[in-house]
Amino acid sequence: MKSVQEPVKPTGFNLLDYDRKGLAAFFVGLGEKPFRATQILKWIYQEGVEDFDLMTNLSKPLRSYLKENCYLATPEIVVEQIASDGTRKWAMQTRCGNRIESVFIPEEGRGTLCVSSQIGCALACTFCSTAQQGFNRNLTTSEIIGQVIIAQKRLGSSKKITNVVMMGMGEPLLNFDNVVAAMNLMMDDFTFGLSKRRVTISTSGVVPAMYRLTGACDVSLAVSLHAVTDELRDELVPINKKYPLKELMEACRDNAKLAPRRTVTFEYVMLDGINDSMQDAKGLIKLLKTVPSKLNLIPFNPFPNNAYRCSSNEVINRFKTVLNDAGIVTTVRKTRGEDIDAACGQLVGQVEDKSRRHLKLKVVGSERVA
Ligand code: SAH
Repeated sequence: MKSVQEPVKPTGFNLLDYDRKGLAAFFVGLGEKPFRATQILKWIYQEGVEDFDLMTNLSKPLRSYLKENCYLATPEIVVEQIASDGTRKWAMQTRCGNRIESVFIPEEGRGTLCVSSQIGCALACTFCSTAQQGFNRNLTTSEIIGQVIIAQKRLGSSKKITNVVMMGMGEPLLNFDNVVAAMNLMMDDFTFGLSKRRVTISTSGVVPAMYRLTGACDVSLAVSLHAVTDELRDELVPINKKYPLKELMEACRDNAKLAPRRTVTFEYVMLDGINDSMQDAKGLIKLLKTVPSKLNLIPFNPFPNNAYRCSSNEVINRFKTVLNDAGIVTTVRKTRGEDIDAACGQLVGQVEDKSRRHLKLKVVGSERVA
């Protein structure tokens, strides 16, 4: 495999690091009017113009300032994998040479992009392969919004990204400011204009940041629950030791108060013999009755060096029926992109599995796979 050349980081401001508010403050700092922010957002995100010289509604001195001091940079796709079900996984390289992964899941009438928020993850959830690589660093706003920009560019106009889920690598609420700025950008009318119902942040339960989010950015909330007792959740999702279930559910109730009919989606990975008994189902009913909620059961996706197994289909379906019968809207997440390890919990970024030669791999950029 050829190694990708380490790009040199340009100096100055990457304008993709700012949401509209940030850009307005940036332009005011230059003695310009705040509306320059919307002008430049339109050029970048709607017109796809990267050359400041072509931004003709900006004054010549401003254009030349931007040319001298600013740049636009996103991660680059280095490998693209396409699963038999149409799911695409991209390994993207950041400008400092790190790898991140994003996944596009096409469905009837919509296209969901699963976006990463950190390189690695610090949370050590025992059933997640991202946890195995430990934590490296937070992604910048431009590296987060850049995943959406690059994915949409690669997909072309025929496949539109209609939904974004912050469910890739990392814990988004531990990278609060950059994730919020990137989500603001996704929802901005002058960029992608996604509605708040179509942008979802998933958290393992960083309780103080959940309260902060309620005030800062109105997006859909998903919570990785996975267990109904503190004893088991302490083991599966260790951040539970810091923020136990009682506090977590209180934060969820607080979020649900944001609007009438608002619900929190709870994610629950189905682990054979661990959290899939009828007693667990009953505990789940009791817990979820305290919050306006929906439940998403996730079949466990296996990965190397991990002893968990996925519950059988029979057990998952029984679980689902019991919960639905108790009035909790419950769905089973369809596993997508299995043959390219693109499913939940399988994103590993820098760790490359060269044995998967039978897959349809496309070579993008300068890297050759297989
Ligand atoms: N850190 C965030 C986002 C990460 S992943 C969070 O914890 O919510 C998105 C979902 O995939 C989470 O619910 C996570 O618990 C789940 N997940 C992780 N590993 C998995 C695996 N091996 N199989 C199935 N789901 C998994």
